[in-house]
Amino acid sequence: AAKQAGRGNVREYDSSFDSSIKHRIRMEREMQLALERNEFFLEYQPIMCTRDRKLTGYEALVRWQHPELGRVPPDQFIGIAEECGLITQLGEWVARRACLDAMEWGNALSVSVNVSPIQFATSDLPEIMSRILYETGLEAKRLSIEITENIFLQGSQNIEILRKLRALGIGIVMDDFGTGYSSLSYLQDFQFDKVKIDRSFIWGMLEKTHSAAIVNAILSLGHDLGIDIVAEGIETAEQLAYLEKRSCSLVQGYFIGRPCKTIAEAPRTEAMQVAVAAA
Ligand code: C2E
Ligand code: MG
Ligand code: MG
Ligand code: MG
Repeated sequence: AAKQAGRGNVREYDSSFDSSIKHRIRMEREMQLALERNEFFLEYQPIMCTRDRKLTGYEALVRWQHPELGRVPPDQFIGIAEECGLITQLGEWVARRACLDAMEWGNALSVSVNVSPIQFATSDLPEIMSRILYETGLEAKRLSIEITENIFLQGSQNIEILRKLRALGIGIVMDDFGTGYSSLSYLQDFQFDKVKIDRSFIWGMLEKTHSAAIVNAILSLGHDLGIDIVAEGIETAEQLAYLEKRSCSLVQGYFIGRPCKTIAEAPRTEAMQVAVAAA
């Protein structure tokens, strides 16, 4: 019986392994096709300054509309794109598209793009970004890249790359702060323009004293280090009020505005109406 159960387990394990490999291989092929068939597009989510309630810019978020699979969320394809190396090509496409779109927005608004650690390892990012800026005509100061703490796991070469990007005038934003595996020591070695508090802390902060303590600690760290703090994932007026009271300078989330295909099409949320009235 033990032997049978053992065999059963093995068979069960094998089949799920097999199907996940198949899934991956299919997704890799589909993504390659998707790049050729233009199935990827960007949505833009607004970022608002709390001090004057004006929009400062938008974060570009990649979307994939597959003819049969429908809308595939980034959490289901970015990881696979990273593993098979397609993220290099996809990431370059995202940056170019975002810069082209930002050229249509007028001079006051900036755009930020998410960049994978794999892109740091597989491509000459400073070279690629400076070429994109040159080709699109976007001013470097209107572009930011968002990276996660995991970028510091690879040693010091990535800090050198960040310095080169910064020297071009591109803003460097730490995303999902507090959820990675790095130590805080990188904050000594590199001056970030902005740090984004991960949305999991924002969602907890009104109910859990621990989440609130973490949010407040990040805000005071940002204040002392001279780094702007962005709170992401704001879904309610109460969350916004809490953060405004604590001088969190920048906010982003469904309550401010959902990601939209073009910035003109974005529906006016309550928070945005205030922003627009203030403008
Ligand atoms: P992220 O960079 O932290 O982006 C924020 C995510 O939170 C987005 O999910 C956004 O739609 C979602 N979000 C924003 N405000 C709210 C809110 O108030 N409530 C809720 N429930 N969600 C909110 P999305 O678009 O699904 O992207 C997920 C992640 O995929 C991103 O997290 C980023 O890590 C990655 N990603 C997206 N686009 C790109 C890209 O072009 N390149 C790379 N390398 N990664 C990307
Ligand atoms: Mg981001
Ligand atoms: Mg984030
Ligand atoms: Mg993320």
